[in-house]
Amino acid sequence: MTTPSATPQVIYVTQPHLPPLEDFIPYLQQIWANKILTNGGPFHQQLEKELCDYLGVKHISLFANGTLALVTALQALRITGEVITTPYSFVATAHALLWNGIKPVFVDIDPDTFNLDPTKIEAAITPHTTAILPVHCYGHPCDVAAIQRIADIYNLKVIYDAAHAFGVQDAGGSILRHGDLSVLSFHATKVFNTFEGGAIVSPDAKTKQRIDHLKNFGFVDEVTVVAPGINGKMSEINAAFGLLQLKHIDAAIDARRRIDARYREALQHVPGIRCLPDAGEKVGNYAYFPILVEPDYPLSRDALYERLKEHGIYARRYFYPLISDFPMYRGLPSAARSNLPVAAAMADKVLCLPIYPALQPSDQQRVIDLVRGA
Ligand SMILES: *Cc1c(COP(=O)(O)O)cnc(C)c1O
Repeated sequence: MTTPSATPQVIYVTQPHLPPLEDFIPYLQQIWANKILTNGGPFHQQLEKELCDYLGVKHISLFANGTLALVTALQALRITGEVITTPYSFVATAHALLWNGIKPVFVDIDPDTFNLDPTKIEAAITPHTTAILPVHCYGHPCDVAAIQRIADIYNLKVIYDAAHAFGVQDAGGSILRHGDLSVLSFHATKVFNTFEGGAIVSPDAKTKQRIDHLKNFGFVDEVTVVAPGINGKMSEINAAFGLLQLKHIDAAIDARRRIDARYREALQHVPGIRCLPDAGEKVGNYAYFPILVEPDYPLSRDALYERLKEHGIYARRYFYPLISDFPMYRGLPSAARSNLPVAAAMADKVLCLPIYPALQPSDQQRVIDLVRGA
């Protein structure tokens, strides 16, 4: 028989941040007392307001999850035809296009930021192109100025998938102020979570109002429906949890920053391991810690992934496979590997190491020792 201590504790790539359970009870008591469970109740309204303040944005609409928010953002701006997007993301980015009957057009990424390469966008524009859907991958800001220049010339909308970018800022303020809309995810694995949840950041009250109608079946009032909207509403329980989370978010991001710094220091001289540049002047959220496993590392990326797994450490190959390699996308002309050489190379090299506020220094050291000692 093995003693429990003989088996090292399993470490996942992330672990949701959970405040003390007793702190959540008063919120539940309030919901039980007022019996408002959904449809823009008091916690929902309060969370929209507090998120606007925290993020430094003017208008936000809460959603049941980020995917419904993406689907609705496209519907809100009446996007049709073709949309330029990145293959290097979570599959929901492109799925939101298919759910709207839009054809995704994949454009390659920049090798330093993992974001859509603006110099390759123009060549992908056709008379059917109506919008660009970039992702702030790992929370690193896209080249928003270059993307907006192209959008202005060709009269295209820009919707940012900002699922990784909660709290990220550039020199001028929140990264979420760029483009026509930005979409957040509050899934359990994200920096800020409401168990499941998401949001759209709008530039003006009129756009927010349209989005709020669309997430409630298209209802404008009791007897008027203006569009085939969906049910995308966030519940009061999720909103209440978000309010509690928000009290801890700065400490949680600080803890992530320390873990990020420790990895950088410990891995900087390991031959064949490359870290992404840190946030630099910008305010990052340390949502992920991707490393690139280069050919001069003694193991392949997949062998390192397996080796960590044998030791109970579940790193993740985000984003492998590329979205463009999934069956519903690979037939598209833009999905060809020859069109996406950088994304294809990155997908074969990347490994995201565990990073989350409760990751203990001794556990992080186990990860570091295994990466160093291969
Ligand atoms: C998590 C994520 C989504 C989907 O968000 P859900 O809240 O899980 O629906 C979309 N895009 C990206 C880039 C994501 O990481």
